[in-house]
Amino acid sequence: MPELPEVETTRRGIAPHIEGQNITQVIVRQPKLRWPVPETLAQTLTGLNIQSVSRRAKYLLFSTASGTILLHLGMSGNLRIMSANQAAGKHDHIDFVFANGTILRFNDPRRFGAVLWTTEPPSEHQLLKDLGPEPLLADFNGELLYSLSRNRKTAVKLFIMDSHIVVGVGNIYANEALFMAGIRPTRQAGKISLARYQKLAECIRVVLQQAIQQGGTTLRDFVNEAGKPGYFQQQLRVYGRAGLACAGCNQLLTEIRIANRSTVFCGHCQQ
Ligand SMILES: [Zn+2]
Repeated sequence: MPELPEVETTRRGIAPHIEGQNITQVIVRQPKLRWPVPETLAQTLTGLNIQSVSRRAKYLLFSTASGTILLHLGMSGNLRIMSANQAAGKHDHIDFVFANGTILRFNDPRRFGAVLWTTEPPSEHQLLKDLGPEPLLADFNGELLYSLSRNRKTAVKLFIMDSHIVVGVGNIYANEALFMAGIRPTRQAGKISLARYQKLAECIRVVLQQAIQQGGTTLRDFVNEAGKPGYFQQQLRVYGRAGLACAGCNQLLTEIRIANRSTVFCGHCQQ
C-alpha cells in the first residue's frame, strides 16, 4: 500500500512533467473507484492549466485556477507519465492528456483510489479538514504529541497512527519510529513523558525522510512505459523482522498484534 513516502515520491516524480501544462482531454475508462469519479470531470478539466502539484497527507492536489483535483492512490494505485498514443492496459482507469503530448495515467487494480474535484480551498474539503499536521512540517513536534496524549489510555502506536493527531504514520513507520525512539508500542500514550515524545517526533521525521530519500532513487521510473513506479524497497529495522536479531542488542525481536496490525519490537531496547 502506498504510504506517505511513496506518495511524496510520486509527487516529485510527476510534478516536473505536468506543472504548467494545459489539460486537453481527460479519459475516464472506469469511474467506479473508492468514490465515483465525477461525471463532469472531463468537461470541467479540459482547458485548465495545472499550476502546482502538492500533497496533503496521502492526497495529491493538482491546483488549477478554478479548483483542485484530489487524487488518492488507495491500496494499489500508481501514476505514470507516458507519451501520447500508448495503449491503455486493463487497470488504466484515467488518463489526463496534456497539450505537450504527455499523458498522466492512473492505474489502480484494486480500485480503492480516488479522483475528485473541489472548488473550495482543499484544506476545507471534507476529506482533509479534520486531519492533523504534516509530520515533516514544524507544527508537528513532541510538545504537540505530549499535550494531545494526556489522559489517553490508548497504546502509543495507535496514538501516532491516528490521522487526527498526525498524518502519514502508517503501520511500517510507526513500528520503525518506536524502535528508533526506544518506546514500547503497547505503552499507554498518556503515560509517556515530554522528553520521550520529543525523541519520538524526531524519529518519525527521520524514518519518513529516510524512506523519501530511498524513494528518490526511483524517480526516473515515473517515466516508464512498462514500469510500476512508486513502491520501493526500504531498509527496515523491525517491521517484517520478527524472530530476527535486534540491531541494537542482538536479542530476538518480538511480534504481537495491536488492532490486528503486525507490531514488532525489541523487549530489551523498547521500554
Ligand atoms: Zn534490542
